[in-house]
Amino acid sequence: MRQMVAYGCKVFGLGSGLGRVGDTRRAPRTSAALVAAAVFYTGLLRIRSFNALEPRLGEKPFLRLVGAAPERRRLCSVDTVGRALCRMDLVSVRAILVGMLHKAERNKVFREGWHGALRHVAIDGWEPFCSRHRHCPECLVRRVKIKAKDGKTMGVELEYYHRYAVALLIDERFDLVVDIEPVLPKDLRPLVVKGKGPTARLVKVSLDEGELTAGTRLIRRVKQTFGWIDVVVGDALYANGPFLNTLDSLGLGAVIIARRDNDEPLREALHLWAGQAPHKVVEDEKAHEHIALWDCRDLDTLTSYQGKIRCVRGCISKLKRPQDAPSTWCMFVTGKATRLSPEKVLAVARARWHIENTAFHQWTTRWRLGHVFRHHPVALRSLFWLFLAAFDLLTLFQYLQLRSYGRDCGKNVTRTISRLVDEMLDELACWHNLAWDTS
Ligand SMILES: [Zn+2]
Repeated sequence: MRQMVAYGCKVFGLGSGLGRVGDTRRAPRTSAALVAAAVFYTGLLRIRSFNALEPRLGEKPFLRLVGAAPERRRLCSVDTVGRALCRMDLVSVRAILVGMLHKAERNKVFREGWHGALRHVAIDGWEPFCSRHRHCPECLVRRVKIKAKDGKTMGVELEYYHRYAVALLIDERFDLVVDIEPVLPKDLRPLVVKGKGPTARLVKVSLDEGELTAGTRLIRRVKQTFGWIDVVVGDALYANGPFLNTLDSLGLGAVIIARRDNDEPLREALHLWAGQAPHKVVEDEKAHEHIALWDCRDLDTLTSYQGKIRCVRGCISKLKRPQDAPSTWCMFVTGKATRLSPEKVLAVARARWHIENTAFHQWTTRWRLGHVFRHHPVALRSLFWLFLAAFDLLTLFQYLQLRSYGRDCGKNVTRTISRLVDEMLDELACWHNLAWDTS
C-alpha cells in the first residue's frame, strides 16, 4: 500500500492532483481535496458503500492515508462526502486521470505502441445501473414491460438509467480508461439550428441522445486532450459515414466492426470476395487457431463517407475443435489504420472485447461502480472520475512495478488485483502506530 501510494505521488503527482480538486461549497470544514482523496481510496480499496466508509472516516490509518492533519479525530460524515461530491468541480476531478495518462505517455509507458506502432482506443457504451424508483435530471428514461410469473404482460413501468460512452486505451499488456462522457436526456441536450437564412431558429431536440452522439463528443475531446492517440476501435454502431468523416477530420484512423451484410461497403466487398480463396492464411500456434483472411482496399460505395474504406474479413477456426463452425469477423478500416496487415486488423478488432470483459465486467463486479453511492449527475461523474483514476493507477502499478507479483499469483488478472487489494487493506490496518507522510 505504501509502495503504491508513493508510486502514485512520485510518478503521477497523485497528491497534488487530489489537492487541486475544488468544489462550490462555501467555507467547508473539510476541503474538497480531502473529500476527493477519501473517495479515491474508497474506490481503490473497494469499500462497498458510503455506509461501509462511515467508520473509516474516524480511523487513524484512513485519515493518514487521505492526508488529514494529525490532530484531526474524524474527517467528516458520509453525508458531507455525498454533498461535496454533488458540488465538485468536474474539470479538476478529471484532471487527475488526464495528468496520469500524460505522464505515462511522457514516461514512454506506451512507447512501442501496439499493432503497427499505433495507439488504439476502443469506444463503447456502458450502463452502470438502472432504477424504477429514484431518478435525477440526467437520468435517461425507458418503458419496460412488467411480466407476471406466467409470462403475461401486467403493464408498463418507467425505468431510469444512466449511460456513458467510454474510451479505453487497449494494449497487449494492460488497458487504461481514457475518458467517459454521459449520454444526455432530451432536456439537457444543446439546442439545434433549424431552417436556413432569416427563418433559422434554435429549437429543442425532442429525443434523448443516442450513444453515437455522446461517443462523437467523447472522441473529439479524447483527441483534443491526447493528441498521440491514433486509431479508434468501435462496434457496428459506429460503422457509418458521418462518424468516419469525424474521425478523418480529427486525423484518427478507424477499425470498426461491420455486421450487416447488406450495408455498404460490406456488400460490395462480399460481392468481390464471392468464390475467392483466402488472400492470406495464418496459423497461430500460440492461440491454436487457423485464420483465413480476405482483404479489399479503396472501396467507395458508402456514399455518406468522403474517403475510401478498406474491408477485411477473418474466419477463425480452432485447431483443437475442428468440428466447430469458424467464427467470422468483418472490419472497416480507414486512415492510419490501413497500414496494418489484415491479421493485425483482426487482432485489433478482437481486442475490442477487452472493454466489455476486463473493463465493464470488472467495474461492476469488483469496483462497485454499479453501486449508486449518491444519485446526482455531478456526484456520479465525480465519483466515476475518481474511481477510474484509481483503476488506472492500480493497473499501472501492477503491470509496471509488480511484474513478478502477477506471475507468482497465477494467470487470473482479476483475482491477482483482488489479492493485491486485500493485502493493502491488511497493511492499512497495521498503520495505527505508524508515523507517515503522504505528501
Ligand atoms: Zn439519474
